[in-house]
Amino acid sequence: MKKKILITDRFAQDSFLYLQQNENFEVVRSDSHIHLPLEHLVSAHALIIRSRTVINEELLQKARQLQLIITCTSGFDHIDLAATEKWGITVMHTPTANVQSAAQLTWGLVLACVNNIMPAHRMVKAGEWKRDSITGIELSGRTYGIVGLGRIGSRVADFAQAFGMNVVAYDPYAPDENFERLNIPRLSYEEVLKTSDVISFHVPKTLETEHMLDRSHFEYIHRGIILINTSRGSIINENDLCEALGNGWLRAVGLDVFEKEPLPRTSNLLNYPNVILTPHIGANTEDAFFKASQVAANKLMAFFVDGSTSDTLPPRAPWYGATPFDK
Ligand code: NAD
Repeated sequence: MKKKILITDRFAQDSFLYLQQNENFEVVRSDSHIHLPLEHLVSAHALIIRSRTVINEELLQKARQLQLIITCTSGFDHIDLAATEKWGITVMHTPTANVQSAAQLTWGLVLACVNNIMPAHRMVKAGEWKRDSITGIELSGRTYGIVGLGRIGSRVADFAQAFGMNVVAYDPYAPDENFERLNIPRLSYEEVLKTSDVISFHVPKTLETEHMLDRSHFEYIHRGIILINTSRGSIINENDLCEALGNGWLRAVGLDVFEKEPLPRTSNLLNYPNVILTPHIGANTEDAFFKASQVAANKLMAFFVDGSTSDTLPPRAPWYGATPFDK
């Protein structure tokens, strides 16, 4: 019997054809990523999704044939993993597909902050040419602090070293080899906040990381620091961040993720000229999209051929066991 695969969101056409050409599969695309067609959901053996498709108990109760869910994303807070475990459904994600893209956007924000690219751009567009009002800093010899030295954090560290920066990191769960490979000292969180000229966050969303940067840290954070967050918005208390910005404690801030997305029009973050905002586009490159689709197609194929799995969820990571996911 053919396995029915329901694809609920954007998926690369080449990867779609790759699955469709396999005689063991019937591949169906849903027109909506929210309202999945019931006639296919009830008989689907696998779902291929992205973060806009929320997997919860209600959906799983309808999908009685479901064996496998693959999300073409790194994050997985759109999936109720307690419910998928209860129903015995295998869940996999594609965390390696967007590492380069997310690290690249992180550095895009760093460079925009360091060289004041956005204010300079706005000035020229407005017909002004006040070069003396735009002064950046050189990165070489300065300190880059990484919080979360996993896949993306390590790639960001590579780039920082290419700029001649001294890289330090805080990650209580990463193995020593992550630090040794790049010759990065393992510091406490407080030390990283106090010594870094540039800092970026690359941690998952957990109870422990929620608001891990708030007023209590801004009081002693290195004055004039450049702060970047491309991981999850809940990591930073945005009210406290605005207060620190108002006090002039930060040189510039680059954010791709927010406590509430889309960012509300009333957000105070919109009022600071030294804050650069992007709409959660860390994984939005053509390359990451194609890679995630093809990795998902390969995982699906392997699962139905011999039951093999990789990058399964919940993750088998020490931080996950230590701090259950914040639903
Ligand atoms: P990863 O699992 O490889 O690395 C995360 C690291 O954080 C791990 O080394 C872990 O030990 C560390 N960590 C966990 N809890 C910590 C804590 N309390 N303090 C310090 N370190 C802690 O994950 P990754 O693939 O590098 O992704 C990092 C983050 O980036 C995730 O939140 C992911 O969802 C996000 N992300 C965002 C985008 C985007 O579009 N902006 C794209 C891709 C990934």
